Amino acid sequence: MTKRDYYEILGVSRGAAQDEIKKAYRKIAIKFHPDKNPGDKEAEDKFKEAAEAYEVLSNPDKRERYDRFGHQGVEGGFGSGGVNMEDIFSRFDDIFGGGFGDFFGGSGGGRGARMKKGSNLRIKLKLTLEEIANGVEKKIKVKRYVSCDSCDGNGSKNGTSLKTCPTCQGTGQVRKVVNTMLGQMVSTNTCPSCNGEGQTISQSCDKCHGEGRIYKEEVIPIKIPAGVSEGVQLSMSGKGNAPKRGGIPGDLLIVIEEVEDENLKRDGNNVHYDLYISFIDACLGTTVEVPTINGKVKIPIEAGTQSGKVLRLRGKGIRDLNGYSTGDQLIHVNIWTPKKLSSDEKKVLESLRSAENFKPQPGKSERSFFEKMKEFFE
Ligand SMILES: [Zn+2]
Ligand SMILES: [Zn+2]
Repeated sequence: MTKRDYYEILGVSRGAAQDEIKKAYRKIAIKFHPDKNPGDKEAEDKFKEAAEAYEVLSNPDKRERYDRFGHQGVEGGFGSGGVNMEDIFSRFDDIFGGGFGDFFGGSGGGRGARMKKGSNLRIKLKLTLEEIANGVEKKIKVKRYVSCDSCDGNGSKNGTSLKTCPTCQGTGQVRKVVNTMLGQMVSTNTCPSCNGEGQTISQSCDKCHGEGRIYKEEVIPIKIPAGVSEGVQLSMSGKGNAPKRGGIPGDLLIVIEEVEDENLKRDGNNVHYDLYISFIDACLGTTVEVPTINGKVKIPIEAGTQSGKVLRLRGKGIRDLNGYSTGDQLIHVNIWTPKKLSSDEKKVLESLRSAENFKPQPGKSERSFFEKMKEFFE
């Protein structure tokens, strides 16, 4: 396999300055980073190829040998063909210092201790029973920090490279020697000039004032699956806050809140509805309209319906989060007893008081409320 020219790989001229080479590599490394291109072999090859090119061109000695003898002049190093990912990652800190090393440490897990990940954002999302039952796509407004596009997130004017902090020489820490009665004590503190980042900006980016990120309102579409419930937390990775000066953004956490429905009460995937009918309708039978999650439906009430009867509308409940089943709507029939009566109404009822058919005669078919509940839970 013939190797491509290192300058060509990084897209720089043969006379390119170190700064330019570094910047070109940074762009390529971000673009083809395996965390951004999971499972993409071509991206991984490009990533490795760029690392190898940078390894040579960033080293004045190796670069000179490469310029004179080509690839043969720089065999060794990464070796031929055996580019090791761990090797590449382990060198990021040397190459880019904190800010950039962090970018890679952040998502892969265990690659370097100085990973920097932005904070998570947590929002509450109110959903109606209808939205919960059917699933819904929402567009939510979120104010969050995003990487500054003007400086590529590193905080310096036009995205030029950062320089090693002169106060701490890039270590991010300062040592202080204090003379005490017990002798000299050495304390280590976070460097005040660079806040422990080890690098400083020579000139701040105009747009983000050196933060590397800007506060912005975004509209983020999210798909809520059917069947979620109060307190369920959904997470969208990378939609949280970007950290200062490079790194990977945190996550957006969406906590579900149920808006209580006026008529329907949720119980798992079933919904319950309390229906009140008049004593007359219970005697003579009728048709009533009841609300369901997806609008009103008409249901017949048989003549002679007893109070406490439970009617079941199959499949009119909430779809299970797993998508394999749907709950029912249960209608609890209550007979409304009038609280006030006119004298005419009293007369009519009085005349029926001793009528044979109005005497309660519970038989086997009129099982008690408790028996019905027993059946319901079985
Ligand atoms: Zn410093
Ligand atoms: Zn900026």
